[in-house]
Amino acid sequence: MKLEAPRPDPAHAALRVRVSGVVQGVGFRPFVYRIAHAHGLAGWVFNGGDGVVVHVEGSSRAIARFIRTLRTAAPAAAQIASLETESVAPEGFEGFAIRTSEHTVAPTVRISPDLPACDDCLRELFDPNDRRYGYPYVNCTNCGPRYSVVLGLPYDRALTTMRDWPLCEPCREEYEDPADRRFHAQPTACPRCGPAFAFESEAACIRGADAVMEAAARLRSGGIVAIKGIGGYHLACDALDPRAVAALRERKYRKERPFALMARDLEVAATLIEVDRENARLLQSVARPIVLARAKRALEGVAPDNREYGVMLPYAPLHHALFAAGAPSVLVMTSANRSNEPIAYRDDDARATLRGIADAFLVGERPIARRIDDSVVRVGPQGPVILRRARGLAPQAVARIPSRRPILAAGADLKNAITLVVDGVAFGSQHIGDLEQFSVRETFEATVRDLCAMYEVDAANVVVAHDLHPEYRSTEFAQTLGCERVAVQHHRAHVASVLAERDAWDEPVVGFAFDGTGYGDDGTIWGGEVFSGTLRSGLTRVAHLRPAPLPGGDAAARFPVQAAAGFLADCAGDVDLQAPPFYFDDRFRRARALIASGVRTFTTTSVGRLFDAVAALLGFVREQTFEGQAAMWLEHVARESRPVSAYQVPVDGGSFDYRPLLASVVDDRLAGRPVEEVARAFHGGLASVILRIAEDLGAKRIVASGGVFQNALLVEFLHEACGERLWLNRSVPPNDGGISLGQAALAAVSAS
Ligand code: ZN
Ligand code: ZN
Ligand code: FE
Repeated sequence: MKLEAPRPDPAHAALRVRVSGVVQGVGFRPFVYRIAHAHGLAGWVFNGGDGVVVHVEGSSRAIARFIRTLRTAAPAAAQIASLETESVAPEGFEGFAIRTSEHTVAPTVRISPDLPACDDCLRELFDPNDRRYGYPYVNCTNCGPRYSVVLGLPYDRALTTMRDWPLCEPCREEYEDPADRRFHAQPTACPRCGPAFAFESEAACIRGADAVMEAAARLRSGGIVAIKGIGGYHLACDALDPRAVAALRERKYRKERPFALMARDLEVAATLIEVDRENARLLQSVARPIVLARAKRALEGVAPDNREYGVMLPYAPLHHALFAAGAPSVLVMTSANRSNEPIAYRDDDARATLRGIADAFLVGERPIARRIDDSVVRVGPQGPVILRRARGLAPQAVARIPSRRPILAAGADLKNAITLVVDGVAFGSQHIGDLEQFSVRETFEATVRDLCAMYEVDAANVVVAHDLHPEYRSTEFAQTLGCERVAVQHHRAHVASVLAERDAWDEPVVGFAFDGTGYGDDGTIWGGEVFSGTLRSGLTRVAHLRPAPLPGGDAAARFPVQAAAGFLADCAGDVDLQAPPFYFDDRFRRARALIASGVRTFTTTSVGRLFDAVAALLGFVREQTFEGQAAMWLEHVARESRPVSAYQVPVDGGSFDYRPLLASVVDDRLAGRPVEEVARAFHGGLASVILRIAEDLGAKRIVASGGVFQNALLVEFLHEACGERLWLNRSVPPNDGGISLGQAALAAVSAS
């Protein structure tokens, strides 16, 4: 007979814990299960309406340790927004269980962005004894696709693109075992039950494990391979093979726009770009974005005339498998499309549109639910700046916007992205693109339907925020919805996006919105605007760039000499700009004629065009082959200069005058001053006029947003002068990709 020891009271205490944030689809419940076990606690965990709910019982000390672990050791992809605890009566549970929720999960539970392969899955991928050895779709609750496979919420296999692959017995056991890493891993699969990969070329179609070997071999021999990734297809080739890179440019009709690179690992990345601590952290962050940084070596054809490369690390298991199979250690990995078209993500579509570009295809069978490009970031003086918000970041919440009614913000027509506000939370869509393209407009409308369905919002019953521009496609779309509409001026939306991110509704600010083009209150083209006020009470335009004539409208954005003709109309004196050292072509003369006759000449306050004009004066006289090229060139030139004193930009009655600045640029150029110094003095001049206007208005808080503030040198100058007084975008891009958030914030104010 065995004497039973007196059992200590198993539950001195009990605690109910509510965790909200990104806690669904990131392995959070299995994590809770494991640490509850480790601390000898009983109770349960389930996905509640507003996040994860946990009930734990045991000694107070164990509970305290449990909470500490919960806070500090959560899965890498989880983001705890809040953690609330409440003491409750112990209920005498015996063990710890993951409860399948009987409640329907509320639509506001955030769906996680796609996650990069975790170390455990990579170990299995490369372990010859593992049943997932070499399987490019390996994933678990800590990693793998999410947003790119979700067809609807709640997040469950039947509502993902994996619904057509029933689990085999071993996979099902893992899926149902609360202690397993694959407990409720919705996209889990193995070579036996899951989708396969195939290598397709004119000569052959090779399925299974050899497909990746074949693709790697083709890349090694200089071929261009279309590779199906997480959010769409990439076109890949050996970045160190100038012939392959040149062929890709030619076949894709892509003249000079830089190609993104994928480096095999961090060491290889560090041979391509400057990798400091912050860049290393970004490269390895769960979003695995393209990180822009100063180039360390010259790769022919990758980024012509550009001093930066965009580099990312492998994120899909397939990428790791490719490099392990001997693919070149640096690949060009560019969105697979014909120029300006959105990234291809459907197999048949990819095969059709990429015929003649790709020599071969590496095609996986798992369908992609929606196209999602790679995200792009660059480190600035205040931390990372998101230039394109897409894979790994969307559709995360970007701000809180107190609004009882759902708001749909349609964004701008260039670099479109939309924002949906539900229950006071603003969700930002992935980068969609330029709505001028028909196929991008289709994606735009699909994304609206998509987000509304996912968050159970009736698109016919929202407040729609859109740009003030009457001819924007996004405006026209907003009008078709038949809802209450709020038109928001473009540059106010830029400033508001920064304030919304920081939940700063009553902070008095002076906000600078500098960009290429936006429709102004007066119907002219704005782009150098200064506002004063608060988000809640409104933003009043208090200053702007002195208006300049802009001959030829849209073409002026492509040809810097045309912008120069406008800005120099009344300050170049009788300098012959078609002579050396300027060499302006005939387009300049024709643009001057347009201005003189007043034909097709508009008025603008665009700082973006002022950048183009200065770039033209310093030698960028050809056509820009992608947006922002001349300004980017000017920034890179300025970086090569020693410190110089800034040009003067006088402020007069609410307008800041570019004319003395341009006169100095022309004089210095004629005098043979190095273009690097001139470019730097221009950047300095712009920074100092921002400061002076802010001082004159007694600004305690300075906000800067708009495409011009993608210029890292300008932002560095501002940060040096203002420090923490300066607020920049953190969660959305400063370019038009951030417009929809600002629209949503201003619509919330005016509609409530
Ligand atoms: Zn994993
Ligand atoms: Zn299986
Ligand atoms: Fe803009």
